[in-house]
Parts: sequence; structure tokens; C-alpha cells
Amino acid sequence: MPELPEVETVRRGLEAQVVGRRIERVEVGRERTVRRTSAEALIDGLTGVTITRFGRRGKYLIGELDSGDRLMIHLRMSGRVLIAAAGTERPPHTHVVLHLAGEPPQEMWFVDPRTFGEVVVFDPNNAAAEMPELAKLGIDPVTDGLTRAELTALLLGRSRQLKPLLLDQHVIAGIGNIYCDETLHLAKLRPDRLSDSLSAREIGRLHRAIHEVLAQAIEAGGSTLADTQYVDIEGQGGWFQLHHRVYDRAGQRCLTCGRADIVRIVTGGRSTCFCPRCQH
Ligand SMILES: [Zn+2]
Repeated sequence: MPELPEVETVRRGLEAQVVGRRIERVEVGRERTVRRTSAEALIDGLTGVTITRFGRRGKYLIGELDSGDRLMIHLRMSGRVLIAAAGTERPPHTHVVLHLAGEPPQEMWFVDPRTFGEVVVFDPNNAAAEMPELAKLGIDPVTDGLTRAELTALLLGRSRQLKPLLLDQHVIAGIGNIYCDETLHLAKLRPDRLSDSLSAREIGRLHRAIHEVLAQAIEAGGSTLADTQYVDIEGQGGWFQLHHRVYDRAGQRCLTCGRADIVRIVTGGRSTCFCPRCQH
């Protein structure tokens, strides 16, 4: 599933290529993608409008429209946003098409084989009713910044294992399994450590690791795994997977210490990889 760095890479592509262009026509092929409202609502909400800015909170892409409404796109498991020249043959599972004005005319596609993803137009003045989960999102480390004082309060204010805590989108928004495992490895912390057991020095390491891992992953265009499901808006994969040190490496030698094998445990129902020698 795309996490913060992958969604941020898509956001940057949309900011560069879609912002400022009028949407001339909208096609909706699969109702499940627009299940929160309807195909008519999406078509009415987007036809003739211009996206003025693309933002992101956690894994949610939020486009600001000159109509005053907002466009929300969530990739979930297998969603992709792609840009192509108008008239290009579309891949299977293309569920939404936005026809963009300009030279050359282009199309923005929402492609989603597993159909867990969503595309919605909502009214920001009524977001609590129309997009309630947005209001419940925690701090986004990149969009909002995440200060050391904020992280300290988040950790010490509860007694939870680090892995499920960092994955909890209501606490910190955008981190998923890959970046959680990599962050905890860089911070030299076990995923099953309790949040209120961390020393000030350990909190400092975790704070630096969160920002460093996310920044490097964004720089690398995210991680494209063996399933090749994640790509940017031009169809290119990221390459941060080449820098994974623990994620999905159970049984292999630790790249950091070279003296222990990565182990896999389950914390909070999620598979977690870490080095028992590097992480305490
Ligand atoms: Zn190690």
C-alpha cells in the first residue's frame, strides 16, 4: 500500500502537471471508486473547474478547486494516478478519467485493479460530515512538521508498543509498514518497546529517524515493491526499496551490523521486521 513518500511523490507530480489546468470532461467507469457519493456527483463537481493546488494529509491527496470544493483521492491498496496524452489507450481498471485542457491536451487517469481506492469531491465547509476521517488524522510529519516536543508528548502520553503506535493514523498520519520498520531500525529501537519507556535520547533518535527516512524516501520517489503496483504519475517506479534495511528481509543478514539475522514478529496484528542486535 502506498505510504507517505509514495503519495507525496504523486502529489508533486500532480502539482507540477495538473494544477492550473481546466477539467473539460469527466468519465467514471466504475461506481465503486466513487462509492462515497456517486458518478454524477463527481462529474458535476469536476467538470469545468480548475485545480488550483494539490496538498496531502497522510495518505490522502487533497486538490483545491476554483469552485471552492475539494477533490480527495486515496490510492489504498492498488490505486494509481497517471497522466497521458489525450486519446492514449487506457490500461485495464481505469475507473476515472479527467480530460485536461491545454496544449497538448492530456488525460488524468485513476487506475485501480483492486478498487479499494476512492475519488471524491467534497465541500470543505462540510468536511466533518462528508470526509470525517480527515478530521481524525494525526500529525503529518512532512505537511505539518513533527517537532521533537510533539513527538515526546505523543509517546509519553500513552503506553503502547512503538510499531502499532507509529502505524496509528490518528496519532501520526502517513507512516505504514515499510517506513515504520525502517524508521525503528534507524532509531535502534525494538518495535515492541513501550512508548512511555523511551529516554529523551531515544526519543531524539526516533524523531531524527522519522524525518530522515521519510525525506530520503521522498527523494527516491518512494518504494516500488516486487508487485510493481506503485508508480508515479508518469508510470515510473521509485527506488527507495534498494535502501530497505529490514522491511521484508526476515532471515537475511542485517545490513547494518552484519552479525545477526533480521527476525519477523507480529505486533498489533502486523508483521514486523527488525534486527535483534541493533535494536533495543
Ligand atoms: Zn543489525
